[in-house]
Amino acid sequence: MEKEEEAGPVLPKIDISRIPPERLPPRGTVFDDLPADASTPPSIPQEEAPVAVSATVADAKKPSLEDRLAAVADPEKAAPAKGRKRATRERKSKIVSDDDDDDTPKKKKAPAKKKSTPRKKAELVPAALPDDLPADINFSVGDSVLVNTGIIVHDRLKYHTVNHMFPVGYKYRCKFTCVKHPKEKHMYTSEIFECGDLPLFRVTCECDPSQSWTTTSASSSWSQVLKTLNALIANPRQTCSIQGTRYFGLTEPDVRKKLEALPGANKLANYVRDADREAPDES
Ligand SMILES: [Zn+2]
Repeated sequence: MEKEEEAGPVLPKIDISRIPPERLPPRGTVFDDLPADASTPPSIPQEEAPVAVSATVADAKKPSLEDRLAAVADPEKAAPAKGRKRATRERKSKIVSDDDDDDTPKKKKAPAKKKSTPRKKAELVPAALPDDLPADINFSVGDSVLVNTGIIVHDRLKYHTVNHMFPVGYKYRCKFTCVKHPKEKHMYTSEIFECGDLPLFRVTCECDPSQSWTTTSASSSWSQVLKTLNALIANPRQTCSIQGTRYFGLTEPDVRKKLEALPGANKLANYVRDADREAPDES
C-alpha cells in the first residue's frame, strides 16, 4: 500500500502546486522533448495541480480513491493510525490539520511540518470574528456571492501566499453537489477564520449546517467535502482533487479586485497583485 515510493522508476519529484499558475504550460502541452522512458503525463490540468500526488511515479500501484483523498486532506493520515480522532463540539464537523496550502510558495516538499507539528489539532478552533469586520456586501459573482471581504492580516505570513490573500472574516457562498441532497447542487458557505499563526478554512453545507469541514487550507476543506460526497454517491467522481481556492471564490477576478483594494493589502510580503503578474503567454 505504501510501496508507492519503491514501485516504479524514480522520477524527479516536481511539486506542481508550488508553481504559480501562470508559469504552468497551457493545457494539452505535449512535452515531446522528454526521453522516451519518461512516463510523466503529457499535461496536467491546473485544477489538479494542488494534488499532483501520484504524477511522479510511473507504474506505481494506484492507491485507492479513499487513500488518495485522505492523503490530500491530511498527508499524515496516509501513515498508520496516529490517533487523529478529534473531539469537536459540532457533531459531524471535522477538523483536520494540514499545513500544506495549495499555493504556498514553499520550496521544500512534504517533510516540512516541523513548526506546526507540536500544535494540537484540537487547537484548530476558529477565533471569534474581529469587531471591526466590515459589513456584508453580498456581491454577486455569477451564481456565487461574496458575502464579506474580511480583513487583511499582514503581520502573519500564512494569511497570504504569492497568489492569494486569506482575509479573516472572508465569506463566500457557492453551489456544489449537496451532501444532504446528493442529486442536487445547493449552497455552501466558505469562510476564513483566524487561529493564531494559521488561517482556518471552513466549508459548511447550508442544507445541513451540522456538516462542516475545517482545515488549514482551502483545498483540504473542499477535499473533505468531496470525500464525504464520494462516500454517499454510487458512482463517485473519479477525481479526488479540487482547487479549493476556486470554490472559496479566491480565483475570481472581481473578488480579487475587491481584496486587493482592502486596507493592508499592499503590506503583504509575498502577494503579487494581479496587475503586476506577467500576462500568460498566448503563443
Ligand atoms: Zn441540499
